[in-house]
Amino acid sequence: MKKLGIYIHIPFCKSKCTYCNFYSQSSDCLSAKDIIIQTSIIEAINREIELFVKSEEYLKNKQKYYISTIYFGGGTPSYIDADMIISIIKTIQREFAISDKDMEKIEVTIEANPDSITKEKLDKYYENGINRLSVGLQAYNDRLLGLMGRPYNCKIFDKCVEIINQSRFKNWSLDLIFGLPNQSMKDWTNTLGKAISFSPKHISCYSLEVHRNTILGRNIKTGKMPNPDEILDRKMYHRAVKILADNHYFQYEISNFAKKGYKCRHNLDFWNRNSYIGFGPSACSTFEGESWCNISENTKYIDKVNGSKVFDSILISDVSSDLSKSHSDCSKRKLYQKIMLGIRLNKGVIIYSKEYSILIKNISKLRSNGLLMKDKNIKKLILTQKGRDLADYVIEQLLENV
Ligand code: SF4
Repeated sequence: MKKLGIYIHIPFCKSKCTYCNFYSQSSDCLSAKDIIIQTSIIEAINREIELFVKSEEYLKNKQKYYISTIYFGGGTPSYIDADMIISIIKTIQREFAISDKDMEKIEVTIEANPDSITKEKLDKYYENGINRLSVGLQAYNDRLLGLMGRPYNCKIFDKCVEIINQSRFKNWSLDLIFGLPNQSMKDWTNTLGKAISFSPKHISCYSLEVHRNTILGRNIKTGKMPNPDEILDRKMYHRAVKILADNHYFQYEISNFAKKGYKCRHNLDFWNRNSYIGFGPSACSTFEGESWCNISENTKYIDKVNGSKVFDSILISDVSSDLSKSHSDCSKRKLYQKIMLGIRLNKGVIIYSKEYSILIKNISKLRSNGLLMKDKNIKKLILTQKGRDLADYVIEQLLENV
């Protein structure tokens, strides 16, 4: 049987971070209207799950699949009432007919922000099948947290770690960001040291991406904030790889490091191109050769799901998006996806003879430039350290003139 991952997009945050480009609606103090919208979204997500499970496409193929992971992302899933999250878990378990015993084998992750973690929430999550937390720290530095518009400080984060350590969650991950404007190497080394001292099982380190339509992007454009220093960004990345390796966090992907046995199964399945279904506004899916993304607007999403009698990805898709619904059976597109996702992994990606013969010229060039490793298996594409620094360029060059 094949793996099928489930992704749930919870589109709510306490406030909007200055660098964030994800779809989410933010409100600092929850008004009655906010609660109504949250409740309506959760109901719509539950309904979307029910419709999908009854769809012809799923019924025709369901014998081939088993649910391997469930991932609550966003937004900030921990921001909303824990009972709302639990109602979705119950719907998934009921609709996909997952027994309690099978549920225990599934990796169920929830993304959480330090300011919205409470003992009560963690108890409820754990008792209802969530077994992994992914906590967004980003930087252990109050000045940089302020710059990013994160709604907590280091003291609140310390408290959050205390709550996690007293809970039954043993598998938890920390997200960090480097390459921020006005972030020194000393700041970054301090954040890494602090992160390691908290002993999470998994650490993700992301290089800051500046999007034009964000507060940070606008501040950089108007000169209120300096441009991130690209050379320092790479030095910070190398420092992270070294310090994390010295502390037994093994790198398995460009941005991800884990203690033995604690790689994120949900993300691994994604990079290995297993099927996944995304529910909620802006969630994307890939199933049986088709890919689609739901509409990125809460009220439109609610209206579309409530107005649908049967599941049709096109009805809840963002028709303006290229990914709204596309047949992925085009071989070039498949090859592109395979390389784009698989090459991020430290173990690399294996390509078929036919694909190798198409790419051979580009592969040779990248190997002689020291960007791709010369592996014993010539059809295995693995980035070198230099290649990891330039991953987007390597992907572009691999597929040039293909
Ligand atoms: S908490 Fe996450 S999703 Fe929400 S605004 Fe910040 S970065 Fe974006």
